Amino acid sequence: MKPFSSRLPRLGTENAFAVITKAKKFEREVLQPQGKHLVYLQIGEPGFDTPENINKAAIRAIKDNQTHYTATPGIHELREAVARESSRNSCMPYEAEDVVIVPGGKPVMFYMIQALIDPGDEVIIPNPGYPIYGSVTEFLGGKVVPIQLKEENNFNFSAEELERCITPKTKLIIVNSPQNPTGGVYTKELLGQIAEIAIRHDLWVLSDEIYDKIVHDGTHVSITSFAGMPERTVLLNGCSKAYAMTGYRVGWSVTKNREMAIALERLACNDVSCVNTMAQFAALEALTGSVTQKAVDKMVIEYRQRRDLMVKLVNEIPGMRCHSPKGAFYLMVNVRRLLDALKITGAEFCDRVMKEANVLILPGTVFGLFGDDFVRFSYVSTEEKIKEGLARIRDWIQKIALPL
Ligand code: PLP
Repeated sequence: MKPFSSRLPRLGTENAFAVITKAKKFEREVLQPQGKHLVYLQIGEPGFDTPENINKAAIRAIKDNQTHYTATPGIHELREAVARESSRNSCMPYEAEDVVIVPGGKPVMFYMIQALIDPGDEVIIPNPGYPIYGSVTEFLGGKVVPIQLKEENNFNFSAEELERCITPKTKLIIVNSPQNPTGGVYTKELLGQIAEIAIRHDLWVLSDEIYDKIVHDGTHVSITSFAGMPERTVLLNGCSKAYAMTGYRVGWSVTKNREMAIALERLACNDVSCVNTMAQFAALEALTGSVTQKAVDKMVIEYRQRRDLMVKLVNEIPGMRCHSPKGAFYLMVNVRRLLDALKITGAEFCDRVMKEANVLILPGTVFGLFGDDFVRFSYVSTEEKIKEGLARIRDWIQKIALPL
């Protein structure tokens, strides 16, 4: 057979999906025959059902025969609703024509990076960070320049550190706040500094704000609130996290840069034609339904309680340490002392936690080089599961009697 393209081996993946496949196999083949099960504390999606009014809107759309193509950038009412919603955090109002509806938040990364990056171009990417930014950049021959999110700075970085990453080849800075995997929120001051640097060096920004509704302290700040940014920023957002709609696959790009909006639409047209029509109607209900906001508020309050519980229980375990995250639903836990005592990597540690304590968590290295002191927990599970999982880990650490 003729070989695959030279770029294919450079395409990474989201290892969180591989970990779950392995865990399910272990649970099925090893634990279930013994009447045991895993506690899943790694889950990267909402721990709630999609609000009923949203599901009903999808069913209604099917009954109304909304089952055909739509225009590539989406149904007008949804684009308008997204524009209205995005304008709340921006220094200038967005219009429907600034919005392209796509199947989830992820395609926005793929399309924007495709639209911009030639081989050798550099992209500054938060590390630890969502793995797809780097995977797509390298696939296209671009160079990933990681910027470290530091635990001691609440997983922020400094303007000086960002300046040091910039070269004549830099084209794009990726910003993600609230952040996966750290739960960190960039300060308003840092966002302002990033904006100033992006403008001074004439750089594009991809602002991944998929967790903007899940903020625990204060209110969400978007980099688009700074003058000069909506024209050089693509805002990534969607329904997955806020409305517990991961399976609907509805996300969007929003930008005041007309050429970029046209490029994103063209990429979407080549790729998917449009998003499932009934899912777009569900998304419209999510954004405009009178009862949706109440449901979101309820979920966020519940996440906050689960966060507080998990932070307390984690910090009671010898060798584990974490800050209370300000957003999203993740906890980045420093396990360096445990890794050193056991003389193993984070991936080996998580494997042992799965096999010996029967709890699933993710190694920080799934999110990049600078994740190597950490494991990521998520607190989307019920309080009961959180208590059970952390008790299992605590008992396991006691049992292996580490000299900490
Ligand atoms: N951006 C971040 C930071 C995420 O954590 C995720 C999903 O985990 C996404 C984007 C992708 O969202 P979607 O499922 O809507 O594609």
